[in-house]
Amino acid sequence: MNPQYETIARWLAPSRRGVAFTGAGVSTESGIPDFRSPDGIWARTQPVGFDEFLRSADARYEYWRQKSESHRGFFDAEPNLAHQALARWESLGRLRGVVTQNIDGLHQLAGSRSVLELHGTAREIACLDCAARYAAEPLVEEFTTTQRVPECPKCGGMMKHATISFGQSLEVDILQESSRWSRDTDFFLVMGSSLVVQPAASLPGIAKRNGARLIIINREPTPLDALADVVVNADIGETVDGIQQALDDLQSHPGHDS
Ligand code: NAD
Ligand code: ZN
Repeated sequence: MNPQYETIARWLAPSRRGVAFTGAGVSTESGIPDFRSPDGIWARTQPVGFDEFLRSADARYEYWRQKSESHRGFFDAEPNLAHQALARWESLGRLRGVVTQNIDGLHQLAGSRSVLELHGTAREIACLDCAARYAAEPLVEEFTTTQRVPECPKCGGMMKHATISFGQSLEVDILQESSRWSRDTDFFLVMGSSLVVQPAASLPGIAKRNGARLIIINREPTPLDALADVVVNADIGETVDGIQQALDDLQSHPGHDS
């Protein structure tokens, strides 16, 4: 077994307020493409920025067209081993929860209860004028059938997915809570993030400066690898499986110390 799995398991086992930080890479094994891989979303489409969305009806149409296209992939996707392991480690009291950049809602579907969604959720639509929220599914269906961008049923306002578009600010409360978790942890586990977008790029540093162990699991190197205690450049599924086995071994040989 990869000795890194045992090291990670030994840090995770006694932790009571560990934090998992996840990016698009945690959901690729559920069939949802990430942004930056060669077959990622950016290889195919140019996302609509928030300013354009506000300015132009054509941009709003293009936004809804793209979102409706990616919608099926999201809604048919199921949580994978990694989502399940994080939910289990939370229920066992090892993790405080998950901070995620993902908008797919798969952590909650896997059973995670404390999830901070930095970039919002694609499972809901939000009115930009009155802040009402609606389930995404029926509105996406409506758009697909009518090809008309829906308006808020309550106030007639502009509606978009409850996700943070380029140029749109993050929610301050969620950001502050994520920083708090990062300051107050002994175990910070990054999974499947390129760590190039803020604030993703800053949370691991906050954790590390406050004494946490920093573990990065990602196929490719990230700019924060030099800061980490352990870097695993491998697929997330097999790595999580290895860590779980190492945890199980620790459980059955608690006194074993070599
Ligand atoms: P990213 O695309 O920038 O990086 C993903 C990283 O994960 C890459 O470095 C890639 O090498 C790695 N990776 C992919 N699959 C992996 C696997 N199976 N095992 C190990 N590593 C793997 O994603 P990001 O850092 O999350 O940032 C981009 C933005 O994309 C986020 O803000 C997020 O909102 C959005 N996004 C979300 C989803 C989703 O909700 N599932 C999907 C695409 C994009
Ligand atoms: Zn409204």
